[in-house]
Amino acid sequence: MNDLRQAIIDTCLALETRGLNQGTSGNVSVRDGAGGFYLTPSGVPYAAMTPADIVRVDLATGAVTGSRKPSSELPFHLAILRARADAEAVVHTHSHYATAVACLRQDIPAVHYLVGLFGGARIRCAPYATFGSEELSANVVAALTQRRAAIMANHGLVVIGKDLGQALALTAEAETLAKLYLQTLAAGEPHILPDNEMDRVIEKFRDFGYGPIERKR
Ligand code: 13P
Ligand code: ZN
Repeated sequence: MNDLRQAIIDTCLALETRGLNQGTSGNVSVRDGAGGFYLTPSGVPYAAMTPADIVRVDLATGAVTGSRKPSSELPFHLAILRARADAEAVVHTHSHYATAVACLRQDIPAVHYLVGLFGGARIRCAPYATFGSEELSANVVAALTQRRAAIMANHGLVVIGKDLGQALALTAEAETLAKLYLQTLAAGEPHILPDNEMDRVIEKFRDFGYGPIERKR
């Protein structure tokens, strides 16, 4: 069990090394294979985190065990892992470019075919709600319908993966796409790929080992 807790910390440190999260922003969870999940504590800098700081949450009851206060975003980690059988891990970041798009309250459109990796022709922006609220959870779960990522208005990015490694890799990819979108907008008018082309792209990605994207459980 310590291995999964350490894997969460390694993911947090990798997010920091790759410039995707800083200090105490963002949070990470992963299923424990026993009806619950591990979650980062609230407000503990990644560099100082030890496996004993990671809390466990029971999926059925939401009961928390551990010595630390759970992440303030416990409600959306719980809601996503309850709703999505395809999600083993959830990574939330305030990565700069995705958050900039979130502050514009825009979706990330198909500015590049790799948007299709996330399951559709756009990565949706969930309507604004206060961090840690049940309203935010509902908005995020809805924006994730048939998707592996959503941005949250005036807040940041949420990515789900079939494991922590995939959630980390997709977080980096979503951030790159957000950067590309903003840079093309700044330089001119990006050509957005049409939905019929994105349907073809998404079909081709089915063979890429990303696993299925499911609707709510
Ligand atoms: P926590 O430290 O409570 O996880 O909060 C960070 C965050 O990003 C809240 O949205
Ligand atoms: Zn946040």
